[in-house]
Amino acid sequence: MSRPLRVELEARSYDIHSGPGLLPRAGELLGATLRPSRVFVLTHPAIVRLHGEALLPSLGAAEVILVPAGERQKSLRRAAHLYDELLTRGADRKSVIVTFGGGVIGDLGGFVAATYMRGLPFVQIPTTLLAQVDASVGGKVAVDHPQAKNLIGAFYQPRLVLADSGVLRTLPARDYRAGLAEVVKHGVIADAALFAWMEASVPALARRDPEAIGHLVTRSCEIKAEVVRQDERESGLRAILNFGHTVGHALESITGYRALRHGEAVAIGMVAAARLSELLGLCDREVGARTEKLLTALRLPTRIPGVSAEEILCAMQSDKKAVRGTPRFVLAREIGRVEIVSDVPRETLTRALLATGAAR
Ligand code: NAD
Repeated sequence: MSRPLRVELEARSYDIHSGPGLLPRAGELLGATLRPSRVFVLTHPAIVRLHGEALLPSLGAAEVILVPAGERQKSLRRAAHLYDELLTRGADRKSVIVTFGGGVIGDLGGFVAATYMRGLPFVQIPTTLLAQVDASVGGKVAVDHPQAKNLIGAFYQPRLVLADSGVLRTLPARDYRAGLAEVVKHGVIADAALFAWMEASVPALARRDPEAIGHLVTRSCEIKAEVVRQDERESGLRAILNFGHTVGHALESITGYRALRHGEAVAIGMVAAARLSELLGLCDREVGARTEKLLTALRLPTRIPGVSAEEILCAMQSDKKAVRGTPRFVLAREIGRVEIVSDVPRETLTRALLATGAAR
């Protein structure tokens, strides 16, 4: 069993365990960190069916609260249902919330944990690749607003993360690929070697080679943990993690959080961001070309689907990163290095969106 990775945040520090066989050890690992009065597991019905037997016996008398699947559940309405449910079941401040699912359950459950009774401890047990390489680490918790993604949220760190590689075996192909998009992002923003390794490892990634996945999860968590350690509340550096997200989030909200997986929207957003970087003279053509080629090889979308440039520009004004209605962009200098740019001319932005397939 490999050593856990520590996310160093003073009093809010915590361990990320990753690898096989963690679900049956969840009770033991949780007990080493917390002494809960009760444990509430927030999850989807399909995940209980697939992996409940491996997890739940180890948590003893844990109570399961079921949430339907889908990004549309990441809403204030669903959070309000969960508050009612916790109250009815007598959850108190010594209760622990365990989020057992993908990024939707992690973000929603984390938001409920952050706000119910001004905060209960929570533990992330991510079950999608996307949640294991990204969403479960770093303490951003949120629900969506119909007009903007993740608009209502908090910075609230989990007390423990358990990323069991075994659960990824049952992940649908589309969700698996969506997770790979966030790893490509980590390569572009911080690690040229990781990016090159992915370029050389497409066949291993396509067949979900356990060693390859282990490398992706470990390296991604290291990158994210280091960025979060330096800038927990996104006053500067942490914004680089949003590479591809300004356009990506706009596409998700325009399409009603239904048409695209988050990772798919980010894949398209990264291509648009690379185009924009190139048009602004920040990087050469190779950055966009390699990014698009790798995403295509990983069978991720790279073109904006049936949405106009004007609609995207409009949606980007509600983005959290916008300052007085002007969106800020994370743009590429080279593979492995990005910077944050706020004064992008509207005309250049429109050209980048059109070049990525946006309708006129
Ligand atoms: P998701 O949580 O909707 O999960 C995708 C689907 O996979 C769901 O239908 C789920 O039931 C199913 N599933 C999950 N695990 C499974 C398994 N092991 N086997 C079979 N089916 C399984 O989607 P996601 O891609 O994990 O997360 C996307 C969300 O994460 C978005 O809301 C995004 O904003 C958020 N996110 C948050 C952060 C953060 O820092 N907080 C970072 C990146 C993304």
